[in-house]
Amino acid sequence: MNVRTTLTNAIDQMGNLLLSPPYGGFGYYHNYGPRTRRAVAFTFDDGPSKPSTELLLDTLGELGVKATFFCVGLSVQWHPDVVQRAFTEGHVIGNHSMMHSRKAGLMLSGGDHIDAATHAITQVIGRRPRLYRPPWGWLTPWEGRRLQQRGYAVIGWDIYPDDWKVPEVPAEQLVAQIKPLVKPGSIILMHDSVSNQIRWNKTETARAVRSLVPWLRDEGYEIVTIPELLGLPAYGE
Ligand SMILES: [Zn+2]
Repeated sequence: MNVRTTLTNAIDQMGNLLLSPPYGGFGYYHNYGPRTRRAVAFTFDDGPSKPSTELLLDTLGELGVKATFFCVGLSVQWHPDVVQRAFTEGHVIGNHSMMHSRKAGLMLSGGDHIDAATHAITQVIGRRPRLYRPPWGWLTPWEGRRLQQRGYAVIGWDIYPDDWKVPEVPAEQLVAQIKPLVKPGSIILMHDSVSNQIRWNKTETARAVRSLVPWLRDEGYEIVTIPELLGLPAYGE
């Protein structure tokens, strides 16, 4: 490993610690719901894409589960039909920035990456998202303030399996990572795509959900959306 790689890794680790859940983010994050109610929420980032998001929507539909999708604005423009389908089927659509750029949120001024994605989503579903998840999970204090001023709630997580990896981690392994961490109020972060990819095949996330849902129900958990879990509005004017 050369010096440059070592330095980049060190910056990444420092950024994750300071700016991401569970400890970072300067108090703006909602990382879980009430620990007193046996409810959990599935969240899916970095889509939409085809056929991966469609496969996941099929799976959720068969299981009767509603989830929250944090969508990348550019991908929403590529696949408005998928976003419309998710919305029509009762899932919640949140904002995951326009281009999934980590840099945009680090800049001291700006906000187009937030506004443009909201515009793209509003064009499709006719509602303005009020939930935001920062790309890479990195949230600076000034980005937090920009989001607050615009009326967004910032949604983190307390469970984050390795389903973002390429090639895909097998579902059995994802399930084994998730199960021991599930608690009342948990927010599970998974991925229905890879950001800024028009077409993406992804099967293990859907397989993991298919395995987790009956287990969660046996354990007495309700599966709800983020607005239901946190008592927050999904959309605003
Ligand atoms: Zn992401």
